[in-house]
Amino acid sequence: MRDMPVARAALAAAAAFAFAMTMPTARAEAPYAFASTPGKLPKDVIPLQYTAHLMPDVAGNVFRGSQTVEIEVLKPTSTIMLNADKLAIESASLTGKGIGKVTLQPMLDEARQTLRFDLANTLAPGKYVLALGFRGQINREGRGLFYVNYKAGGVDKKLIATTMAPTDARRMLPTWDEPSFRARFKLTVDLPGNFQAYSTTPIEAREALDGGMQRLTFGNTPKMPSYLVVLVAGEMERIAAKQDGVEIGIVTTEGKLNAAAFPLAASRDLLRYFNNYFGIPYPLPKLDQIAIPGGFNGAMENWGAVVYNEPTLLYDPKKSPERVKKFTFNINAHELAHQWFGNLVTMAWWDNLWLNEGFATWMAAKATQHFHPEWRPYLDGIAEREYVMNLDARKTTHPIQMRVDTEEQAAAAFDAITYLKGQSFLRMLEAYLGEDNFRKGIRVYMARHQYSNTTSADLWAALEKASGKPVAKLASDWTTQPGFPLISVEQSCVDGKRKVTLSQEQYRLDEPAVEQRLWNVPLQVGTVNGKAWTTLLSGASTSFTQASCEGTLVVDPHSVGYFRIHYDAASFHALAGQAPRLPDSTRLRLLADTWSLVLAGRMQLDGYLDLARSYGTEPRPAVWEALLSHLRTVDSLVRGEPERAQIRRFFIELARPKLAALGWDEKPNETAEDAQLRGMLATSLARAGDPEAIAQGKARFARYLIEPLSVPPSMIDFVTLTAGRYGDAATYEALAARSANAATSEERNRFGRALASSQDPQLAARTLRMLLSPQTPPDLVPAILGGVANEHLDQTWRFAVANRDALLANTDAVGRNALFAGIVASSTDPAHADMMEAYMRKNFGLEAVVEAERAGNGVRIRAAQKARLLPQLRAALP
Ligand SMILES: [Zn+2]
Repeated sequence: MRDMPVARAALAAAAAFAFAMTMPTARAEAPYAFASTPGKLPKDVIPLQYTAHLMPDVAGNVFRGSQTVEIEVLKPTSTIMLNADKLAIESASLTGKGIGKVTLQPMLDEARQTLRFDLANTLAPGKYVLALGFRGQINREGRGLFYVNYKAGGVDKKLIATTMAPTDARRMLPTWDEPSFRARFKLTVDLPGNFQAYSTTPIEAREALDGGMQRLTFGNTPKMPSYLVVLVAGEMERIAAKQDGVEIGIVTTEGKLNAAAFPLAASRDLLRYFNNYFGIPYPLPKLDQIAIPGGFNGAMENWGAVVYNEPTLLYDPKKSPERVKKFTFNINAHELAHQWFGNLVTMAWWDNLWLNEGFATWMAAKATQHFHPEWRPYLDGIAEREYVMNLDARKTTHPIQMRVDTEEQAAAAFDAITYLKGQSFLRMLEAYLGEDNFRKGIRVYMARHQYSNTTSADLWAALEKASGKPVAKLASDWTTQPGFPLISVEQSCVDGKRKVTLSQEQYRLDEPAVEQRLWNVPLQVGTVNGKAWTTLLSGASTSFTQASCEGTLVVDPHSVGYFRIHYDAASFHALAGQAPRLPDSTRLRLLADTWSLVLAGRMQLDGYLDLARSYGTEPRPAVWEALLSHLRTVDSLVRGEPERAQIRRFFIELARPKLAALGWDEKPNETAEDAQLRGMLATSLARAGDPEAIAQGKARFARYLIEPLSVPPSMIDFVTLTAGRYGDAATYEALAARSANAATSEERNRFGRALASSQDPQLAARTLRMLLSPQTPPDLVPAILGGVANEHLDQTWRFAVANRDALLANTDAVGRNALFAGIVASSTDPAHADMMEAYMRKNFGLEAVVEAERAGNGVRIRAAQKARLLPQLRAALP
């Protein structure tokens, strides 16, 4: 759920609550067994078949429903317990052999989100039918059944949709709402006659009702977990094509099919690729990919009907930058991978969520590499790894596999560690086992566990069988321990032979770890552009000798390892001296590790800046992205200090020649990377105050207002962001009007980001007031608030405190707990951390306080980094 690479990472970090209070799973994990799977519900009664009829009142934001559930009693019991949340139960009865029909008294437990029936007599094992009548809410936030208000052709419209993961199916249907209770679902729904509707299976019956209504019945589903139940209904349009016998549809609200051709072609490619990779064909007759204009962030992999927040699926070749094409392809691949990893085979419990999310994230990069090697997805993957390693090197991190007891903890498990550390670990493991062995293992795993559930132990067993390597022993180090190692590399040349020593210790950015953990580290050692061989570092250190000292030593040449590397000084200088000629992945890793070692206080800033100077002719956007992010961090650490001018001058002198070589305008036949780089450098130069870039941005925006097509998609982010950042009130008005009337969510979000970046406090105040408006979708509020806080921290804090209730009412559940913590996240002042934490303890619940302490820790780390780097910056730069 809520899958968003890149932006996803930031979102996950903002939304995640920590598990600081919970202990990691200590025991070795057992293979999946239903009876011993964690969860709240008793396992002596299981659902087999739900048959539900929903009657939404779309205008009134409520619904009524009735449902029968065929259940099987496995052991004698006098209690039936399932889940329900925010539902009123109007009727309940049980029928079956030997009991006739028994009327039941519903007992709802609001806190535990359960619905319980106590029977007068013990039920004998066997099959029964539970019949329920109920009603519930159609929500504004994206939980359970929700609505989205939007405009089409200037007319107000409304659609309804669902997002159930992890524990919100119980807000629409009383269900055994835990992932190991697989059952079939058959859904009937009454809707306005002009609505189209989508669910897991095709519509098999359609009946006209009085009052312009219609009754639609969907086919029965395979056995599946309740969190994959889906319904989307509204005035929708669809294009479709057949691939491998499956009908693939792209579904949008009116007038957007011009942006559907690319995702349709991509979906066809991806379905074919995954059918082949997994060795089991996609099992449903159709697959709908549905873009909705808001309501929730990211995308949700509902079986047979994936729902996307519009800008995560649609790509308009005339208007969208290349970055959107890459981004949507990646999310599309992620969600389609889930149709197998997650839907066909499901994690037993939320403590193994990474089996779904780490795997789908890893698979998306692999599929992208297959179809679009020119996008270099593995370089982007290094950037994602950097992001999560920065979180994983703090005392507030947690292991990939964590104990989950509550609904809040299940929701919190959807964080960067689960997605990105999971992905990075799988990439390292695949490199160690070999691509073919890895795939063989995955095929065994899929075939063995289809339509069922698993734990990590089941995956390790399949991979062990395929590879003959001790996967379980190695893997549990990475999934049950927090953090990761720093690999120190020392070498010497004696009698023409190179002696190499590798050692490991836990790597931390804040304070040394109390326990010194060790990992089984699979790694490759070789020479630049030469051969590499694989070794497993198991203890604290290992030494070996190479036959000659020729070539430049490099550890992890393909940059697949989830660890940091610290070379001895001579080895570092040998690599740094040839940085521009190193292979892409080596070059990016060298820069990223060096930067991290500066942040950790293990290297001096001047060493990093010397290295950065040699990246001025860098051709890859992903490497520039890393460089820009490092320098932006310095820039933000020294905000308000005179040293900011020095780091800005350094950056402008580094980036200007590259932009000059690219030119300000697109060239015929240039690569997509060059076009992307131009926009990226222009944006960063303008942000750093480069007068030429600011003037270019303003002039182009003025022309854009008259002639929108004058700005190509590759420059549209630069032009709107620069106008928003430096524009006057008239510019602000122009941006706000375009945001309000944007044809797509992608455009609306772009203008929204531009408004949030204004330097002018009065304009910032207007953006903040906008956050209280019902016209602002709740899923956008945290991002805009954080954007304004980046420029006007104190002003944003005062506003948020003064308008707390209205602001929280306009924010969805994902953003609510992290909202106030997010305001101070860019600060370097521990007083901000103290203020925020005190406020959260006074006004919020436990999960939000844990998140506050994590964010507060981040601020204190930044304060320490600032204190260390300021004098280094003064010494390093004139
Ligand atoms: Zn996912």
